[in-house]
Amino acid sequence: MISTTAIAHLKEKLGDPNVLHEKEDLLTLGYDSTPGVHHLPEVVVYPQTAEQVIWAMEIAHREGLPLTPRGSGTGLSGGSVPVRGGMVIGLSRMNRILEIDEENLTATAEAGVVTLDLFNAVAEKDLFYPPDPGSQKISTLGGNVAENAGGLRGLKYGVTRDYVMQLKGVLPDRSLFCTGGKSVKDVAGYGFKDLMSGSEGTLGLITEVTVKLIPPPQDKRTILAYFDDIRTAGEAVSRIIAAKIIPSTMEIMDQATINCVEDYVKIGLPRRMAALLLIEVDGHPAPVAEEADGVRAILEQVKAAEIHVARDAAHAADLAAARRTALSALARVSSTTLLEDATVPRSRLAETFGEIERLTQKYGLKVGTFGHAGDGNLHPTVLCDERDHDEMKRAHDFYNELYEQVLAWGGTVSGEHGIGLAKKAYLARQIGEGGVQVMKRIKQAFDPEGILNPGKIFDEGDPCTVPHVEEGFRVSH
Ligand SMILES: Cc1cc2nc3c(=O)[nH]c(=O)nc-3n(C[C@H](O)[C@H](O)[C@H](O)COP(=O)(O)OP(=O)(O)OC[C@H]3O[C@@H](n4cnc5c(N)ncnc54)[C@H](O)[C@@H]3O)c2cc1C
Repeated sequence: MISTTAIAHLKEKLGDPNVLHEKEDLLTLGYDSTPGVHHLPEVVVYPQTAEQVIWAMEIAHREGLPLTPRGSGTGLSGGSVPVRGGMVIGLSRMNRILEIDEENLTATAEAGVVTLDLFNAVAEKDLFYPPDPGSQKISTLGGNVAENAGGLRGLKYGVTRDYVMQLKGVLPDRSLFCTGGKSVKDVAGYGFKDLMSGSEGTLGLITEVTVKLIPPPQDKRTILAYFDDIRTAGEAVSRIIAAKIIPSTMEIMDQATINCVEDYVKIGLPRRMAALLLIEVDGHPAPVAEEADGVRAILEQVKAAEIHVARDAAHAADLAAARRTALSALARVSSTTLLEDATVPRSRLAETFGEIERLTQKYGLKVGTFGHAGDGNLHPTVLCDERDHDEMKRAHDFYNELYEQVLAWGGTVSGEHGIGLAKKAYLARQIGEGGVQVMKRIKQAFDPEGILNPGKIFDEGDPCTVPHVEEGFRVSH
């Protein structure tokens, strides 16, 4: 239990409003966006400089408290849930954009800057920061780097790691680190910056991020295709990729998701359709027109039920915004939404939709599937009630069997949400015990005392953090 002296020291160093320790203040900070995982921290601090981060860590060290970094808590694998209690270090108040360097095409921002704020700030200077997770209005840049977040534009433009040029922060031993820089090429030593990107807050606290910017696309076409059968949509995606057309966005929603989204945003999506694909091609006007024609031809070949082109930029933006609401729209219709992150090689998409349908029937569940189809990255989402133990067991069996097939096809248990708590039971199945041991040795080298974000990524049989079949993914309170 944190001492009153330590609380007083924290308040003195960080300022009263930046230290929370009353239970009612802590309650909402024991969650992220992953259902069924919650644990109260003992204290939450909001440092505003790297030095304050070190002060807070110093006090946690003296008190023997584990540390959990937190951005906005939109994570979908339980990464910022403080499963061993202790101190949560919230970075969301370090939220200044420090520089937009138009000569080097970079932007530097504190880790707590909201993703969309950075996008908008660089857009004002006619520059483009492509990574756009569905949560971009809320998620932080630090959280994006820690999870190596993808987004709707990942297909053509890649994920967060592809844009990280420099990271600054604090290591578990409370020393400052700085890795990378503004040089576009840099192979001095191991790829430390790349290792930190996607390290899920287990290797270091990121306080400042410099990202690469690119010129914005000059033109864009948005195509919306509806299908009578979701497998045909999957086939369309595979064929578009095989035709060497790389749209910036190729997003899918199944019928359950279409209906929930339509209930939510009311933009006239056809409820009877089995699936829709939202496809955007962008770039220089000439190839954009050619690629849009190519996409259209393939959609006609596979016999999409309907093909529409967005009327104008506003209509295209409405469609993209509707897609971004998919998870929230599904979450409105059930008390618990278990969302997964299964990702397959794109040639396997149609089969994966078939498998999801088969397993939905087999386990008698209600499932809505949406995701970044162009990346082979699907979010089959079970709409359930965590109080119904039988339903939770069936949901767990559904994912278990799905992942068995996904791995057999050479896919991954997480395309973008990370392992955190929710998927640690699956990690060894994908990378083997040998792979897990290598990762543990890396963690040990950075954090020999295991104080930074303990209980995440590695399944160490900790009864407090292992997903329990009978209880869904609940951890202790
Ligand atoms: C509606 C919705 C849509 C989403 N869409 C997408 C999507 O399209 N693509 C995608 O990839 N994800 C998506 N996500 C998941 C989530 O938004 C991302 O993982 C995001 O990057 C998390 O950012 P955050 O600031 O909320 O981090 P948090 O959830 O607070 O933390 C995530 C992890 O990062 C660590 N962390 C946070 N900040 C730091 C820091 N400064 N230094 C070190 N570690 C840190 C935490 O310890 C934790 O392990 C979505 C989530 C929601 C709710």
